[in-house]
Amino acid sequence: MPIEIRTASTASEAAGLLAGDRQARLLSGGTLVMRDLNEGRLTDGLLVRLADPAYRQIALSGSRVEFGAGVTMATILKRRELACLHGAARAIGGPAVRNMATVGGNLFAETPYGDFTVALLALDAQVMVLQGFGAPRAVALEEFLAGRGRAPSGLVTAVQVTLPQNAADFRFRKVSRVRPKGIAVLSIAALLPTSGGRVTGARIAYGAMAPTPIRAKAVERALDGKALDAAAITAARAVAAEGTRPATDAVASEWYRREVLPVHLARLLSGQE
Ligand SMILES: Cc1cc2nc3c(=O)[nH]c(=O)nc-3n(C[C@H](O)[C@H](O)[C@H](O)COP(=O)(O)OP(=O)(O)OC[C@H]3O[C@@H](n4cnc5c(N)ncnc54)[C@H](O)[C@@H]3O)c2cc1C
Repeated sequence: MPIEIRTASTASEAAGLLAGDRQARLLSGGTLVMRDLNEGRLTDGLLVRLADPAYRQIALSGSRVEFGAGVTMATILKRRELACLHGAARAIGGPAVRNMATVGGNLFAETPYGDFTVALLALDAQVMVLQGFGAPRAVALEEFLAGRGRAPSGLVTAVQVTLPQNAADFRFRKVSRVRPKGIAVLSIAALLPTSGGRVTGARIAYGAMAPTPIRAKAVERALDGKALDAAAITAARAVAAEGTRPATDAVASEWYRREVLPVHLARLLSGQE
């Protein structure tokens, strides 16, 4: 069977098409799907496009943001209100990739890709998932990532986050061997809200340190309730690699990723460029 492309005008129609065929895939920005097609890994089956304008829109209400899953990195980079996410959006490939690469597609990108998702995980994003017909269901991104690939994922219609009250509370760092657009050795995002000079409710996420982006819960525990000083950073550094399962690939070995992670975590926490 050749490749068939169907265009749905509503999210329900697209979700129905995906639900009706286990092999069907959504064609979002297509940076990964089209590469699979061009390189012969995808030779037949159904590709579904979604033409609903809401799929590509950003809705802002105070500090709450809803990204249609088809919003591209380039679109995010044009919005000044989203400045705290610009570092993560700019970390995705070069300009041509960022013009196509979507927020929704990034949730599915296999490690060491998924840099934007790392930032969303630190911000405790909710993923809106539509399985077949009905209304989308909100799933915590951490849960979504834990289940990724185990069952048909349905259609992701949108991703919701709350932006930090203070932009300086959010930090993102991507480590790559080739700049500016190399693939990640690793990436780190940190939400570090403070109250009375102490960190309260830290959320730290890593990319390329496990099969999907993960939270660094030992680091979060080491920081919570502490002033972000040298002692706290030393404590965080000591547990930086806890719970990680990095891969060895063409970019870096598992050993190298574990070795450099504490160094880059300490730099991020101490505010170094
Ligand atoms: C040269 C190059 C450089 C790259 N550099 C980076 C990088 O530095 N960092 C990085 O993170 N990524 C990188 N990528 C990977 C990719 O471009 C991004 O991860 C991008 O965000 C994927 O989004 P997309 O819309 O292009 O996905 P697509 O190719 O459209 O889809 C990818 C997968 O996700 C599924 N999918 C997409 N959207 C949905 C949805 N809404 N609901 C259900 N399923 C969906 C598709 O069916 C498919 O299986 C790079 C890719 C290339 C080709």
